[in-house]
Amino acid sequence: MTASTTRLAINGVAGRMGRAVRAVAVEREDVTVVLGITPTREDNGRQATDAAGSETMAVVSPSNRRDALQRHEIDVVVDFSAPDGVAGLAADCAVEDVALISGTTGLDGETKAALREASETVPVIHATNFSRGIYALVDALEAALGTLPGYDIEVLETHHRGKQDAPSGTAKTILETIGEHRDFETVHGREGIQPRTEDEVGMLVRRAGGVRGEHEVLLAGNDEVLMLTHRAEDRGVFASGAVDAAVWLAGRDADWYTLDSAFQSGLRVDGKTDGQRET
Ligand code: NAD
Repeated sequence: MTASTTRLAINGVAGRMGRAVRAVAVEREDVTVVLGITPTREDNGRQATDAAGSETMAVVSPSNRRDALQRHEIDVVVDFSAPDGVAGLAADCAVEDVALISGTTGLDGETKAALREASETVPVIHATNFSRGIYALVDALEAALGTLPGYDIEVLETHHRGKQDAPSGTAKTILETIGEHRDFETVHGREGIQPRTEDEVGMLVRRAGGVRGEHEVLLAGNDEVLMLTHRAEDRGVFASGAVDAAVWLAGRDADWYTLDSAFQSGLRVDGKTDGQRET
């Protein structure tokens, strides 16, 4: 552990993403995972040995979270959990002066408001996708929307069979981006006689196997088709983006930060300084 190590807690540590964040963090010297939070009964209260074997991580349930954040001097909580616990987590972070990175999707308006409220006291980032490729896709989409007005647009997303919410948070972000450029109605799948109207965007969802996450935006018109596709090949891409963001967020003033602004501000890549972005 170095003096500049960022002390992390992982909320949802026993889940698919929680485990991926831990696996990424263990390989880095600029972060240490000192606390895991999970409602899974068998994990509560015991000490778990890091994959590296050299450090331990305390594990607590959500009801013991607030005390633990203080006791373990957590700098940033990285959250990949379930929507119903996120508002409480945000409130605890605000009380204990701990920065919050949340990647949990499917949040309702009340929970989003709770995150915003916490950002008045501590720095907060909520992002539906922590991969750099998706931000490049959204940038490319914005350029395409300007150049191809009136082209038909369809969005397709595919995720593993265990994903709870649909469409994915990333697909919703893509729809919001389209909404900044034109008015449309989202049509979720089609069945029977349902001809396409000019002002609709088709939103198609697939759930199968272990697919990490695929998003495709198709723009068609004028005898041509443009397809923007992103495929996450491993959960590590989201995990390392979230850990990068946590390192970037630690010690900042209370505010609502976007991942986009973090990427543009010299956010580190896999623990290495991205010199070009820092100039
Ligand atoms: P998962 O079901 O494998 O894991 C979720 C974990 O959260 C479980 O272990 C569960 O016990 C735990 N949990 C539930 N309620 C909790 C609470 N109140 N406090 C603490 N832990 C709690 O799901 P996953 O695949 O790891 O995904 C988790 C979330 O992250 C989902 O919302 C998913 O859509 C989202 N996600 C976001 C990104 C991104 O880049 N933003 C990427 C992948 C997944």
